[in-house]
Amino acid sequence: MREKYLLRCPGCGRSFPDRYTLNCPSGCDTLLRTVYAERRLTPRSLPGIFRYKDWLPIEGHLRVDAGPVSYESEHLARELGLLHLTITFSGYWPERGAGMETCSFKELEAQPTALRLREKGAGGVIQVSSAGNTGRAFCQVSGLTGAPVVVVVPTAAAGRLWTTVPAENVCLITVDGDYSDSIAFGREVCSLPGIVPEGGAKNVARRDGMGTVMLDGTLSAGRLPDYYFQAVGSGTGGIAAWEAAERLVADGRFGPRLPELHLSQNLPFVPMVRAWEAGRRTIVAEDMPDAEAAIARVYADVLTNCHPPWGIRGGVRDAFLASGGRMYAVANEDARGAGRIFAETEEIDLDPAAAVAVASLARAMEEGLIDPGKHILLNVTGGGYQRVAEDLDRYPVDPFLRVAAGTTLDGDLRDDIEAWLAEQEVAAYA
Ligand SMILES: *Cc1c(COP(=O)(O)O)cnc(C)c1O
Ligand SMILES: [Zn+2]
Repeated sequence: MREKYLLRCPGCGRSFPDRYTLNCPSGCDTLLRTVYAERRLTPRSLPGIFRYKDWLPIEGHLRVDAGPVSYESEHLARELGLLHLTITFSGYWPERGAGMETCSFKELEAQPTALRLREKGAGGVIQVSSAGNTGRAFCQVSGLTGAPVVVVVPTAAAGRLWTTVPAENVCLITVDGDYSDSIAFGREVCSLPGIVPEGGAKNVARRDGMGTVMLDGTLSAGRLPDYYFQAVGSGTGGIAAWEAAERLVADGRFGPRLPELHLSQNLPFVPMVRAWEAGRRTIVAEDMPDAEAAIARVYADVLTNCHPPWGIRGGVRDAFLASGGRMYAVANEDARGAGRIFAETEEIDLDPAAAVAVASLARAMEEGLIDPGKHILLNVTGGGYQRVAEDLDRYPVDPFLRVAAGTTLDGDLRDDIEAWLAEQEVAAYA
């Protein structure tokens, strides 16, 4: 293999070069995987996640110093009675060298995705539908690199879109409706020539970007963890952890066994917990009763995804089957309490989703579900909002268009977005 990497379909087994490919060319319904020529992980002297460039589907790097930061916990570990707790933190925490200024691990996805598109995507502009953290991360990367992006969010979530550098190449469209309505309008926008979807879990750059948490935590501890804890909405981070762990096992220096996956969701919206407990390959309506009302009641709403890549080949269920582990349903008050304990012991504020993961770890200890002497990697997927508010200027991203739910891309809207594209000097591409 002369290329740095190839894509491989776990369905038909075909391998092929990457052309910003999101789906198997033979039409298999799978998550494609990257296969890297380099089997040993050699950290590079590059900023942020580009330290792990060998195992990212990119050729160059961005001058962005924002990556995961790992350390061995003393205070939370003592509080919970654990002997070997590695915390991998993605967010803003200058004392620990953590510089993800939009405060969530979605920046791990946005950086390689933007770069992969520039390198392999023939000049297309990326489109992202988001309820908050993902959109903010892509706006930030756009602000840092100048790469244009089209972000579609529910109008009610527009306030979550801010950056810490001016982001002048963002086309923000707000939809009067929920996240699903934003996804639907995002799909409309992608019918325009020159605009391409980011692809969610199907995008190998997003998964391998998130996989740097496992790489960083493992290098920090000098070995693969026995247990990996994370709160999940789509579960993409869980898949990424499994894929990265497989690479580390193949590397040979970090231990022979895949870590167990301990993934958590926030009650009352816990579709993957239910599908796992029922042994179902697909998520069905009874896994999310009263979905709308349930979503409105959770503390960590970034964890509410109605269509996670659960049963798809290479998805969350396959990750569980390969790694073992369990799922946790965490109540709001337990998550809030865990967030407070984390802030007291480790001295940084958490994203609500990260607090759900901490609560699941506390529960695992209380109920004797894990061996307290084994090695744990806790993926703290977001935090430091209070620190950012104290330290940095935040620029709100202004909406370019506002549309009603169910809107199709009629002549005027099409003209507006094409005019924006032309301004980005990429409209020549078609
Ligand atoms: C998106 C998000 C999650 C869930 O990640 P997935 O692996 O995609 O399910 C957890 N925590 C935070 C802070 C997030 O933004
Ligand atoms: Zn295939």
